[in-house]
Amino acid sequence: MLLARRSWHQSRPRQKQLANSPVTLNDLASDGKLLWLYCTDCGRERDIDPTSLPLPGSMPVPSVGKRLKCSQCRGRNVTAAPELHPGGVTQYRERFR
Ligand SMILES: [Zn+2]
Repeated sequence: MLLARRSWHQSRPRQKQLANSPVTLNDLASDGKLLWLYCTDCGRERDIDPTSLPLPGSMPVPSVGKRLKCSQCRGRNVTAAPELHPGGVTQYRERFR
């Protein structure tokens, strides 16, 4: 990220991460970001609070999808990534309605 945006809940600068170290659930939480989950089987997607998962905060985000199951089709092909849009994809879509 080139622009260091600091918001009210981030009073101190974060430790600089190595470019090749994966983002973990803790990183998302400390950034105030949501976790984006996408099911490649049925296309269901949602943004969730990373702290609401019963998974260790040290878990890299790409590994999270492998631990989850789609609540709609029970598929196991779930992709996990840091939120793509501030406030989550749902809020992003609302803007174009
Ligand atoms: Zn699904």
